[in-house]
Amino acid sequence: MVSLPKRTGGKRGTRKFKVPQWNDQTDVVVVGYGAAGANAAIAAHDAGAEVLILEKMAIAGGNSGVCAGAMLCPENLADAIQYYRALSFGTVDEDLIHGFAEAMVGIPDLLKSLGAEFNVLRKDPPYFPTLLNANVRRIQFNPTGPAGFKFLSGQVEKRGIRIMFKTPAKTLMQIPETKEIIGVEAESKGKKIYIKAKKGVVLACGGYEYNPEMLSSFNVPGLTEFVYPWGNPGNTGDGLKMASEAGAALWHTASIEWGSFCAKVPSKEFGMAIGLGIGRSMPVGSFIFVNKYGKRFMKENKNLIHRKEPLEALYFDHERAEYPNLPAYIIYDENYRQNGPIACTLKYFEEVWGGPVGYPMVHKVFEWSNDNQLEIEKGWIIKADTIQDLAMKIKVDPSGLEETVKKFGSNCLDGKDPEFDRPGDSLTPIEVPPYYAVELALSLINTQGGPKHNRHGQVLDYDNNPIPRCYAAGELGSFFGFLYQGGNNYPEAWAFGQIAGKKAAAEKSIT
Ligand SMILES: Cc1cc2nc3c(=O)[nH]c(=O)nc-3n(C[C@H](O)[C@H](O)[C@H](O)COP(=O)(O)OP(=O)(O)OC[C@H]3O[C@@H](n4cnc5c(N)ncnc54)[C@H](O)[C@@H]3O)c2cc1C
Repeated sequence: MVSLPKRTGGKRGTRKFKVPQWNDQTDVVVVGYGAAGANAAIAAHDAGAEVLILEKMAIAGGNSGVCAGAMLCPENLADAIQYYRALSFGTVDEDLIHGFAEAMVGIPDLLKSLGAEFNVLRKDPPYFPTLLNANVRRIQFNPTGPAGFKFLSGQVEKRGIRIMFKTPAKTLMQIPETKEIIGVEAESKGKKIYIKAKKGVVLACGGYEYNPEMLSSFNVPGLTEFVYPWGNPGNTGDGLKMASEAGAALWHTASIEWGSFCAKVPSKEFGMAIGLGIGRSMPVGSFIFVNKYGKRFMKENKNLIHRKEPLEALYFDHERAEYPNLPAYIIYDENYRQNGPIACTLKYFEEVWGGPVGYPMVHKVFEWSNDNQLEIEKGWIIKADTIQDLAMKIKVDPSGLEETVKKFGSNCLDGKDPEFDRPGDSLTPIEVPPYYAVELALSLINTQGGPKHNRHGQVLDYDNNPIPRCYAAGELGSFFGFLYQGGNNYPEAWAFGQIAGKKAAAEKSIT
């Protein structure tokens, strides 16, 4: 048993700390009910601790509940160490690389021990062949996030673990002298509540996808109106705020995972990526991307997902102090419209992933129409009889756009794209009226930044000392500081949720 200081009055921080009047208490408080939170709760409970999960939203799941469910798991420890050392790209120390490798190799055993069914799909070659030669297995779990989270929440319910929905954690209660975390201030029904955590707090509250200020400061200065998340709106960086207030070192904030292009106007309206996959759903045919000058700026059917080199859309012209490729538009003709939905639909994800993916699709916020007609009626797709009229409607230089469309047409006749190397069989002239334009935005899959942690999930301060009784798991302060191969964040959330939950449950109880 560890004793708390006496209640002394005064305020937190530099002034005297007042132990609050607790409204509730438990051994381990888990903040956030995605895969990391569910796994932390299960592990802490199974290690004998009483657990309370606080979830900000009315529904469970977070990004985990809408993800594609892909898990990459190296086959053996030696390969795994080599693989994660290369991916860490110098941003993580050897001890965590070894701990991380052990945890990820153990994923199939973890799934089996929980009774989960999964398929080992195939061996995936690493994305970065010049760096890596270890093959990794791709496990497809159940098939996508919604089913995966149904399994996890079933495990939580089976154990009778308490959950408080619509209860965001706001502040970690910390003893100034010892830095120990002894509870959480949260908000329930508009009121502050104080929950004592006798053993520890696990922060599993995801990234800052929906925090424009953090995105602008860490990743995309001045560009937040062009970036829309694909995941859970509850992920607003609360864990970064709480942990940094408690003295945690923040790391990996420069690392984010891009998705593909989406449609800007509806994304702004709904606040999340709508019309995702423009240019990927139909990579072949009579379409191009142009910038505000009416010029092409990239190979349109290039895959942007998880790309680490700067995206063409984000190119900054230093002399002009502007992003010349934003605003950007997809321009296409009637043939392309008639070929099918210009954005990825449920059918696309069912064919590729076996189920729905992304918050807008899973939670039925909006589904792109098959003939693109609804989006034309809503004014999200701009229509005109001539390229000139189209250019004027979207305020792009008409002669610039006409010239670009003409040049693209002659490239199509030659079957070659000397400017951007788009494959010959993907080139079709834009020549059948009416013509269409959709303003583009970038979609964001998830962020990686947050409090630094060690192999036990303990949150570290800037001197690498653990902040006592404070843990983090999942995409909040993820392992991945730069390079990333798709299929790693989801199993990381499972594995480090387990590690953090178990370790927190093993702490000595405070009185
Ligand atoms: C569309 C999509 C597809 C993806 N596909 C894959 C994939 O196939 N493979 C892969 O490896 N990764 C994938 N990812 C990434 C991966 O899903 C996530 O990184 C991972 O699931 C994060 O799990 P988590 O538990 O850390 O966070 P989340 O699952 O996001 O859970 C965090 C929870 O915390 C809650 N919360 C936030 N703030 C508070 C607060 N103050 N108090 C209480 N609760 C709070 C949130 O509401 C949320 O429920 C995908 C992500 C997205 C968005």
